[in-house]
Amino acid sequence: MRGGWMGAAGTMGGLTRTYGLRRHFQKGGLEGPPPEISQAILKRILRYFKPYWRLWLVVFVCIAAAAGINVLPPFCTRYIIDLAVAGDGSQIWLYAAAIVGLALGSGLIGVLQQSLTARAGQGLLFDVRNELFCHLQEMGLHFYTSTRSGEIVSRLNNDVNAVQRVATGTLTMIASNLATLVATSIALLSMNWRLALLAVTVVPLFYLPSAIVGRVRRRLSAETQESQAVLLGFMNERLHVSGALLTQIFGQARADARTFQQQSSVVRDLNVKQQVVGRWLFMVLSIFSAAGPALVYWYGGLQVVRGDLTIGQLVAFVALLTLLYRPLVQLATVYVDVQASFAVFERIFEYLDMQPDVRDGEQPRACRLTKGHIVFDNVAFAYPAPIALSQRKDEKKGQQDGRNGQDDVPATPAEAFALRDVSFEIAPGERVALVGPSGAGKTTITYLVPRFYDPNEGRILLDGCDLRDVRLDDLRHHVAMVTQETFLFHATVRENLLYANPSASQQQLEAACRAANIHDFIIGLPEGYETIVGERGFRLSGGEKQRISIARAVLKDPRILILDEATSNLDATSEYLIQEAMEKLLQGRTSLIIAHRLSTILSSDRIVVLDKGRVVELGRHEDLLTRSGLYATLFEQQFSKVLDSANAEPPPGGDGRGE
Ligand code: ATP
Repeated sequence: MRGGWMGAAGTMGGLTRTYGLRRHFQKGGLEGPPPEISQAILKRILRYFKPYWRLWLVVFVCIAAAAGINVLPPFCTRYIIDLAVAGDGSQIWLYAAAIVGLALGSGLIGVLQQSLTARAGQGLLFDVRNELFCHLQEMGLHFYTSTRSGEIVSRLNNDVNAVQRVATGTLTMIASNLATLVATSIALLSMNWRLALLAVTVVPLFYLPSAIVGRVRRRLSAETQESQAVLLGFMNERLHVSGALLTQIFGQARADARTFQQQSSVVRDLNVKQQVVGRWLFMVLSIFSAAGPALVYWYGGLQVVRGDLTIGQLVAFVALLTLLYRPLVQLATVYVDVQASFAVFERIFEYLDMQPDVRDGEQPRACRLTKGHIVFDNVAFAYPAPIALSQRKDEKKGQQDGRNGQDDVPATPAEAFALRDVSFEIAPGERVALVGPSGAGKTTITYLVPRFYDPNEGRILLDGCDLRDVRLDDLRHHVAMVTQETFLFHATVRENLLYANPSASQQQLEAACRAANIHDFIIGLPEGYETIVGERGFRLSGGEKQRISIARAVLKDPRILILDEATSNLDATSEYLIQEAMEKLLQGRTSLIIAHRLSTILSSDRIVVLDKGRVVELGRHEDLLTRSGLYATLFEQQFSKVLDSANAEPPPGGDGRGE
């Protein structure tokens, strides 16, 4: 068996106010055309906002109130100046105090709005993240063998975070800019409509440079994301236990450091370029934004001379004008932001829409108890081809029409089958060994029992019932697997053990560990059962990890046991401890064993010999030997030496069964 089965800077022109979404937009493989903003997606997105609609309502009210308040200070300025020019100083303090009061009011509303937006945004993040995680947990082995783990984690982390930024960023940005635009326009028009029209004439000048520099920045941003991904991938591999081991064994630390520096310098240079380009745009827009007030000062100045306008009105007008330009420019680029937001949601939906290959049927049959009688009835199986994400949509379509999508799958070429015409039976409590050359299909057979995959043809029966009709949770409750490679979580020994049976008591835990010959070792650890086993259990030896995994299986107490014996050579003591633990675990359970040890083979009730995905021989050890077929050859190759040396004694570990 192969391993592993088991800012809101608010600067001119909204240059910096994209909340990283455009970057994300380009990052998500968006070299192609941007996604259509379809009604269906919009509706689906709105569903996520719905639970927080009250919060959003208050947020929008806050935004509108703040926009209204923000246009008032220029009016105060106007009265202060006009009163000063008229030589009336008695009420100036009142307007000055009003400016401070308005700032305070606007600030308080801002705080309220921010806290509500954060709650609504984080709530949405919480919902999407949980939904996606639960969904991914249901995905079968096919998904996990077809998808890079980095990509899955990235969607769960980066994309989901980006979705939250959409909520708190793009939405509030659009709302506050629209509100400011409306409030300022009303204020400007009410003050002097001629001047207002004149001021608006410079608006188009903002769009051209924004568009040009926007394109350059988008390209640079995509390049930066790409090079950052390369750098991250490199770091992930090199700074992982196995990668670090490899680096040290092959003495590649310096070469790796050079590669890292080189990749890192690309990221550095691209980031510098990006920031400089942004600054150029800022400079250009600053000039244009100065042109509007200049025009107003020129025309308005003439009106002041003619007596049609007061100085206070002119100054207040220009102050309002600067309030107008910012939202105008930010809204000019809003479509890209909205598209970016949609793109992020689409990536999440793409994952949510994937259907697990294996799932419960319409009316799954409960199976709380089982005798553990298994029958493989003419089973044929081909591993599904690895699929790219874009193809998964088609697969989903297929699945709506046929059972698990397999009915519509084009005919599988004969050579693609990992198993063909496989028929055999395991009686309740029987011990069956799988034997065969590498790639014969042994592991594949063990995957079909807990329904990691479903057969393409034929059936597998549990107590006479097709596995596809049994409730998946019930089926998996009855099956435990002990594999060659033991996967342990980065947690304490206790937590790793309890994973098999969360309600187990300390006594049960210890009894299981005693049965697995690992209790004495565990209590000898610095913190006993509370010792952290390290990433993937790297702090434990292979033999120790295996015994922990046996203890885990004992705790689960399954009716059916699948065992993939380790091929690695362990020292005699470790081997003995594992053998003994296994023997106890196997007692009274239906078991399917990928056998590598002589003792296991000899103690099996039946041996299924596989070659190229077919059952070529089936029977007890002695019968198979006399047939002089594949089994006899394999047996001769693997065990002749052992048998020669052990000729005088009976084989170790055998309990006499099957001999
Ligand atoms: P070994 O003793 O070397 O572990 P095995 O008898 O357990 O071999 P399997 O792992 O069952 O063999 O593999 C049977 C066939 O299926 C092999 O040809 C293998 O390349 C193929 N195979 C295994 N896993 C996958 C997969 N996820 N996708 C596609 N093909 C696979």
